[in-house]
Amino acid sequence: MNVPVLMYHHVLPKPGFITSSIKQFDAQMKFLADHGYKTLTSEEFYLFKKKKLKVPKKSVLITFDDGWKDNYVYAYPILKKYNLKATLFIVTNWIEEASKKKGEFDPGAINHGKCKTEIAIYPEKVVLNWDEIEKMSDVFDYHSHTHTHRDAYFKKCTWNEEFPLTKEVMKRRLGIDEKHLCWPRGYYDEDLLAEAKKHGFEIFYTIERGLNRPNGNLERIKRVAAKKDEKWLHKTLRIFSNELTGKLYSIIKPR
Ligand SMILES: [Zn+2]
Repeated sequence: MNVPVLMYHHVLPKPGFITSSIKQFDAQMKFLADHGYKTLTSEEFYLFKKKKLKVPKKSVLITFDDGWKDNYVYAYPILKKYNLKATLFIVTNWIEEASKKKGEFDPGAINHGKCKTEIAIYPEKVVLNWDEIEKMSDVFDYHSHTHTHRDAYFKKCTWNEEFPLTKEVMKRRLGIDEKHLCWPRGYYDEDLLAEAKKHGFEIFYTIERGLNRPNGNLERIKRVAAKKDEKWLHKTLRIFSNELTGKLYSIIKPR
């Protein structure tokens, strides 16, 4: 038994680097809904990994990284339409900065590169704010993607400061005693893992492909970066629903 975890970043009119087009994303979500997939909540996934919850064979965890505003504009209505759940890993200081001023989504933010150039100047136009996060909570649950993503757009902090800073915001804004952590750019080492655990983090999401079995090991949740269309998704879910092909595929294509 394996639960595939899908990783998304942007949903925008046109596809591109770490970006699904609206059409591709809609087709993939329709595929999941039409084929009876259960999209787990992060809590259900956590309990499944800890062997405390049995989940249907056709289960999947949908994750989004970073907290871009296009998630509210384009991804959220599609997920809602198909009655699906997803988990969003937010960079807590980005959301704090984006919430300081009211701002509409910038239609000129057409790709990841544009979002990156705008974030430091107009975070309110490209990053989610706390109101949007609240509005989307019927579809999304939220977890930490650290405080700064290790980017110095607004403030710099040391790696070890990331853990208490992001935990404080998750508690104050969302009332969560955070235990889920998604590593920015998939980067981590044994020292960071040990430090994060000291701060109460328990389950860690990587960008490595592989199987997520109910074996109690929460240190390296494997994810598959979403690409292309529903045919790609169909193929990928077929590969990762089988222990042998899933394992072989992860060796051939680790990322
Ligand atoms: Zn990220």
